Amino acid sequence: MTVNASEYLYDKQLNCPVCMKFFQTKKVRSSKIRILSHDTDFCSHYLDNDCNPLFYYVNVCPSCGYAYSDHSQLTLTSAAKAAIHNHISSKWNGSDYGIIRSKLQAIQAYKLGILSASLSNELHIIKAGMFLRLAWLYRTLFDNGAEEEKRFMSAALQEYIQSYMNLDFETAGYSETRLLYLIGELSRRTGNKQQATIYFSRIIQNQSSIKEKRLILMAKERWQDVRNGLIGGEALTSAEDSVDIHR
Ligand SMILES: [Zn+2]
Repeated sequence: MTVNASEYLYDKQLNCPVCMKFFQTKKVRSSKIRILSHDTDFCSHYLDNDCNPLFYYVNVCPSCGYAYSDHSQLTLTSAAKAAIHNHISSKWNGSDYGIIRSKLQAIQAYKLGILSASLSNELHIIKAGMFLRLAWLYRTLFDNGAEEEKRFMSAALQEYIQSYMNLDFETAGYSETRLLYLIGELSRRTGNKQQATIYFSRIIQNQSSIKEKRLILMAKERWQDVRNGLIGGEALTSAEDSVDIHR
Protein backbone atom coordinates (compact mmCIF):
# COMPACT_ATOMS: atom_id res chain seq x y z
CA MET A 1 0.00 0.00 0.00
CA THR A 2 1.33 3.42 -0.90
CA VAL A 3 -0.35 6.55 0.36
CA ASN A 4 0.38 10.23 0.12
CA ALA A 5 2.45 11.46 3.10
CA SER A 6 -0.03 14.25 3.85
CA GLU A 7 -2.77 11.62 4.24
CA TYR A 8 -1.04 9.64 6.95
CA LEU A 9 1.25 12.16 8.67
CA TYR A 10 0.59 15.54 10.27
CA ASP A 11 2.84 18.17 11.79
CA LYS A 12 2.75 18.62 15.54
CA GLN A 13 4.07 21.81 17.11
CA LEU A 14 6.22 21.32 20.19
CA ASN A 15 8.07 23.54 22.64
CA CYS A 16 11.50 22.15 23.55
CA PRO A 17 11.76 21.74 27.35
CA VAL A 18 15.51 22.47 27.25
CA CYS A 19 16.05 25.45 24.91
CA MET A 20 12.37 26.55 24.92
CA LYS A 21 12.32 26.99 21.13
CA PHE A 22 9.33 25.83 19.09
CA PHE A 23 9.73 23.13 16.47
CA GLN A 24 7.62 20.75 14.40
CA THR A 25 7.68 16.98 14.27
CA LYS A 26 5.65 14.51 12.29
CA LYS A 27 3.16 12.10 13.84
CA VAL A 28 1.09 9.37 12.21
CA ARG A 29 -2.68 9.94 12.05
CA SER A 30 -4.16 7.24 14.26
CA SER A 31 -6.92 6.57 11.70
CA LYS A 32 -4.25 5.52 9.18
CA ILE A 33 -2.46 2.99 11.38
CA ARG A 34 -3.02 -0.58 10.16
CA ILE A 35 -1.77 -3.29 12.51
CA LEU A 36 -1.16 -6.77 11.14
CA SER A 37 -0.40 -8.51 14.43
CA HIS A 38 0.94 -8.11 17.97
CA ASP A 39 3.74 -10.05 19.59
CA THR A 40 3.61 -11.27 23.18
CA ASP A 41 5.68 -8.28 24.36
CA PHE A 42 3.15 -5.84 22.75
CA CYS A 43 5.29 -5.19 19.66
CA SER A 44 2.99 -4.32 16.76
CA HIS A 45 3.65 -5.31 13.17
CA TYR A 46 2.31 -2.71 10.75
CA LEU A 47 0.93 -3.22 7.27
CA ASP A 48 2.90 -0.27 5.93
CA ASN A 49 6.02 1.23 7.51
CA ASP A 50 5.08 4.63 6.06
CA CYS A 51 2.35 4.60 8.71
CA ASN A 52 4.48 3.16 11.50
CA PRO A 53 4.06 5.35 14.62
CA LEU A 54 7.24 3.89 16.14
CA PHE A 55 9.20 5.98 13.61
CA TYR A 56 7.92 9.19 15.20
CA TYR A 57 7.77 8.27 18.89
CA VAL A 58 10.88 10.33 19.76
CA ASN A 59 10.75 14.11 19.24
CA VAL A 60 14.13 15.69 18.41
CA CYS A 61 14.63 19.44 18.88
CA PRO A 62 16.53 20.74 15.81
CA SER A 63 17.93 23.68 17.80
CA CYS A 64 19.61 21.90 20.71
CA GLY A 65 19.39 18.16 19.92
CA TYR A 66 17.40 17.22 23.03
CA ALA A 67 15.26 14.17 22.21
CA TYR A 68 12.26 12.99 24.21
CA SER A 69 8.94 11.23 23.89
CA ASP A 70 5.42 12.41 24.61
CA HIS A 71 5.66 10.38 27.83
CA SER A 72 8.88 12.06 29.03
CA GLN A 73 9.00 14.43 31.96
CA LEU A 74 8.87 17.99 30.66
CA THR A 75 10.36 19.73 33.68
CA LEU A 76 14.13 19.36 33.74
CA THR A 77 16.47 20.48 36.50
CA SER A 78 19.17 23.03 35.71
CA ALA A 79 21.76 20.24 36.23
CA ALA A 80 19.95 18.10 33.61
CA LYS A 81 19.84 21.02 31.16
CA ALA A 82 23.57 21.65 31.71
CA ALA A 83 24.34 17.98 31.04
CA ILE A 84 22.28 18.09 27.82
CA HIS A 85 24.12 21.24 26.76
CA ASN A 86 27.58 19.83 27.47
CA HIS A 87 27.08 16.40 25.93
CA ILE A 88 24.62 17.05 23.09
CA SER A 89 23.92 20.70 22.21
CA SER A 90 27.58 21.80 22.18
CA LYS A 91 28.25 19.21 19.45
CA TRP A 92 24.86 19.41 17.71
CA ASN A 93 24.88 19.84 13.94
CA GLY A 94 21.29 21.09 13.62
CA SER A 95 19.85 17.93 12.03
CA ASP A 96 16.13 18.20 11.41
CA TYR A 97 14.10 15.11 12.34
CA GLY A 98 10.80 16.86 11.58
CA ILE A 99 10.76 15.16 8.20
CA ILE A 100 9.53 11.82 6.84
CA ARG A 101 12.02 9.57 8.62
CA SER A 102 13.96 6.72 7.10
CA LYS A 103 14.55 3.55 9.14
CA LEU A 104 18.01 4.77 10.07
CA GLN A 105 16.76 8.22 11.06
CA ALA A 106 14.11 6.60 13.25
CA ILE A 107 16.78 4.52 14.96
CA GLN A 108 19.05 7.53 15.38
CA ALA A 109 16.17 9.44 17.00
CA TYR A 110 15.81 6.66 19.61
CA LYS A 111 19.54 6.67 20.32
CA LEU A 112 19.41 10.43 20.88
CA GLY A 113 16.33 9.94 23.06
CA ILE A 114 18.09 7.32 25.17
CA LEU A 115 21.18 9.53 25.54
CA SER A 116 19.01 12.53 26.48
CA ALA A 117 17.05 10.45 29.00
CA SER A 118 20.21 9.17 30.58
CA LEU A 119 21.72 12.69 30.86
CA SER A 120 18.52 14.16 32.27
CA ASN A 121 17.99 11.43 34.87
CA GLU A 122 14.70 10.43 33.28
CA LEU A 123 12.39 7.90 34.98
CA HIS A 124 13.42 4.28 34.44
CA ILE A 125 9.98 3.46 33.05
CA ILE A 126 10.44 6.08 30.29
CA LYS A 127 13.95 4.87 29.42
CA ALA A 128 12.66 1.29 29.34
CA GLY A 129 9.95 2.27 26.85
CA MET A 130 12.52 3.79 24.50
CA PHE A 131 14.83 0.78 24.69
CA LEU A 132 11.94 -1.62 24.07
CA ARG A 133 10.63 0.30 21.06
CA LEU A 134 14.14 0.42 19.62
CA ALA A 135 14.36 -3.37 20.03
CA TRP A 136 11.02 -3.65 18.19
CA LEU A 137 12.38 -1.58 15.29
CA TYR A 138 15.29 -3.98 14.93
CA ARG A 139 12.86 -6.94 15.08
CA THR A 140 10.37 -5.60 12.55
CA LEU A 141 12.54 -3.67 10.08
CA PHE A 142 15.67 -5.76 9.61
CA ASP A 143 16.16 -9.42 8.69
CA ASN A 144 19.52 -9.43 10.48
CA GLY A 145 18.54 -7.30 13.49
CA ALA A 146 18.31 -10.10 16.08
CA GLU A 147 21.53 -9.24 17.90
CA GLU A 148 20.68 -5.55 18.26
CA GLU A 149 17.10 -6.45 19.18
CA LYS A 150 18.33 -8.62 22.03
CA ARG A 151 20.83 -6.00 23.19
CA PHE A 152 18.15 -3.30 23.49
CA MET A 153 15.57 -5.73 24.91
CA SER A 154 18.02 -6.60 27.69
CA ALA A 155 18.58 -2.89 28.36
CA ALA A 156 14.79 -2.37 28.50
CA LEU A 157 14.47 -5.27 30.92
CA GLN A 158 17.06 -3.77 33.30
CA GLU A 159 15.25 -0.41 33.24
CA TYR A 160 11.85 -2.05 33.88
CA ILE A 161 13.33 -3.90 36.87
CA GLN A 162 14.79 -0.64 38.20
CA SER A 163 11.42 1.02 37.74
CA TYR A 164 9.73 -1.78 39.69
CA MET A 165 12.27 -1.53 42.53
CA ASN A 166 12.17 2.28 42.69
CA LEU A 167 8.40 2.53 42.11
CA ASP A 168 8.89 5.21 39.47
CA PHE A 169 6.24 3.52 37.29
CA GLU A 170 3.70 4.90 39.78
CA THR A 171 4.89 8.46 39.11
CA ALA A 172 4.29 7.85 35.40
CA GLY A 173 0.84 6.31 36.00
CA TYR A 174 2.00 3.00 34.52
CA SER A 175 0.16 -0.22 35.38
CA GLU A 176 2.00 -2.44 37.88
CA THR A 177 0.46 -5.57 36.31
CA ARG A 178 1.66 -4.56 32.87
CA LEU A 179 5.12 -3.86 34.29
CA LEU A 180 5.27 -7.28 35.98
CA TYR A 181 4.12 -8.93 32.74
CA LEU A 182 6.76 -7.14 30.67
CA ILE A 183 9.55 -8.02 33.10
CA GLY A 184 8.43 -11.64 32.90
CA GLU A 185 8.09 -11.64 29.14
CA LEU A 186 11.39 -9.86 28.41
CA SER A 187 13.08 -12.27 30.83
CA ARG A 188 11.55 -15.19 28.89
CA ARG A 189 12.61 -13.71 25.55
CA THR A 190 16.17 -13.12 26.74
CA GLY A 191 16.44 -16.66 28.14
CA ASN A 192 16.08 -16.07 31.89
CA LYS A 193 13.55 -18.79 32.66
CA GLN A 194 13.72 -18.46 36.44
CA GLN A 195 13.17 -14.71 36.49
CA ALA A 196 10.33 -15.02 33.97
CA THR A 197 8.57 -17.54 36.21
CA ILE A 198 8.95 -15.34 39.29
CA TYR A 199 7.34 -12.29 37.64
CA PHE A 200 4.51 -14.17 35.88
CA SER A 201 3.76 -15.88 39.21
CA ARG A 202 3.41 -12.50 40.95
CA ILE A 203 0.51 -11.70 38.62
CA ILE A 204 -1.08 -15.14 38.85
CA GLN A 205 -0.87 -15.25 42.66
CA ASN A 206 -2.54 -11.83 42.99
CA GLN A 207 -5.11 -12.29 40.25
CA SER A 208 -8.12 -11.79 42.53
CA SER A 209 -7.07 -8.17 43.13
CA ILE A 210 -6.11 -7.38 39.52
CA LYS A 211 -8.60 -5.73 37.19
CA GLU A 212 -6.65 -6.29 33.94
CA LYS A 213 -8.05 -9.75 33.21
CA ARG A 214 -6.42 -9.98 29.78
CA LEU A 215 -2.98 -9.53 31.33
CA ILE A 216 -3.72 -12.30 33.84
CA LEU A 217 -4.58 -14.62 30.95
CA MET A 218 -1.44 -13.62 29.06
CA ALA A 219 0.73 -14.17 32.17
CA LYS A 220 -0.74 -17.68 32.53
CA GLU A 221 -0.04 -18.43 28.86
CA ARG A 222 3.55 -17.22 29.06
CA TRP A 223 4.10 -19.07 32.34
CA GLN A 224 2.92 -22.22 30.51
CA ASP A 225 5.22 -21.36 27.59
CA VAL A 226 8.17 -21.26 30.01
CA ARG A 227 7.13 -24.63 31.45
CA ASN A 228 6.99 -25.98 27.89
CA GLY A 229 10.51 -24.76 27.26
CA LEU A 230 9.49 -21.93 24.91
CA ILE A 231 12.25 -19.43 25.52
CA GLY A 232 13.13 -16.54 23.21
CA GLY A 233 10.73 -15.12 20.60
CA GLU A 234 8.51 -18.21 20.45
CA ALA A 235 5.11 -18.15 22.13
CA LEU A 236 1.86 -19.95 21.61
CA THR A 237 -1.38 -18.00 21.62
CA SER A 238 -2.86 -14.63 20.86
CA ALA A 239 -4.71 -13.31 23.90
CA GLU A 240 -2.69 -10.11 23.53
CA ASP A 241 -4.68 -9.00 20.48
CA SER A 242 -7.01 -6.69 22.32
CA VAL A 243 -4.58 -5.23 24.86
CA ASP A 244 -3.78 -1.53 24.51
CA ILE A 245 -0.23 -1.55 23.18
CA HIS A 246 0.43 2.16 23.13
CA ARG A 247 1.84 2.68 26.65
ZN1 LIG B 1 15.83 22.44 22.17
